Amino acid sequence: MAVPITTLQPQLVQAFQHIITHGQFSAAYVFAGPAGTGKQALATWIAQRLFCQNLQDGAPCGHCPECQRILSGNHPDVLTLATTTQSIKVADVRALKEEMSKSGVEGANRVFIIPDADKMTPGAANSLLKFYEEPVPGMVIILTTAAKNQLLPTILSRAQVINFPQPARSAVMAQLEAGGATKADAALVAHLTADAQAGSELLATGLSTQRERVVQWLSKVVARDPEAFVLVQTQLLPVAKTPVAAKQIVSLIALAYADALNRHYAVTDDLAYGQEPVIGQLAELAARQLTAGLTAALQAQVRLTQNVSFQAAVGALAIQLIS
Ligand SMILES: [Zn+2]
Repeated sequence: MAVPITTLQPQLVQAFQHIITHGQFSAAYVFAGPAGTGKQALATWIAQRLFCQNLQDGAPCGHCPECQRILSGNHPDVLTLATTTQSIKVADVRALKEEMSKSGVEGANRVFIIPDADKMTPGAANSLLKFYEEPVPGMVIILTTAAKNQLLPTILSRAQVINFPQPARSAVMAQLEAGGATKADAALVAHLTADAQAGSELLATGLSTQRERVVQWLSKVVARDPEAFVLVQTQLLPVAKTPVAAKQIVSLIALAYADALNRHYAVTDDLAYGQEPVIGQLAELAARQLTAGLTAALQAQVRLTQNVSFQAAVGALAIQLIS
């Protein structure tokens, strides 16, 4: 279930609508932004906009043979560099350039898309650079990246850089709910990621169980029950088996304290845990204690990245929170 790019990035769609209508296309674009912000989808939209045989109010129809071929990756004039390896090498770019040099119909549009362009080796980037300095009329290269800073400055300076804004949390929530998530799950996930796709995967891999365990654990913490320390091993550790899961548990704890601080100050919109009762109890603590709790959780997160074990990091956190 993907949200249409016209909903996800309406301003960017409008901008390109204008650019294409007025023939102001550049030869090279860099689409920069986090995963889930619609970079590839906009590139596809642009290609469809250029080739669609049945434009609807200036927008591609999405159904005609041209639109369909672009969508399925079978359009001869829309090429996406596909690489399964960790880096994009000179040979990959060379193959793409060979395709580019095959002249299509004169003046006709051709679109070349290089996803994850930050994976280009310096050699590959330089090889591409030579080509995009001498653009062929009608040809456009679109590089997408989630790590703009890792592109060569020369690649960036000779392209139009389009920054993709992070979608609003409410939009991410709506996307997740449309995909079948409950309101409570959607709210929590949208606090962990702005990528609805990644969010759905979090839910599929047990986020709800993690939430339950963290809530259970917090009920001991709020009661200053030393059992909180024991539960780290018996309740939290079993759902923190991978580094990603471990990091997530600690994020959930940090979010609980952030929510509690908000509720302490009667800020009730945009809560990760909604009206979860245990967070309400936590919110009755002094603001100073809640801030200290949040800080401690964030420190535990840093310690996880420094190869401290989950048990050690969260065990220490438990002791800090109940003391
Ligand atoms: Zn069409």
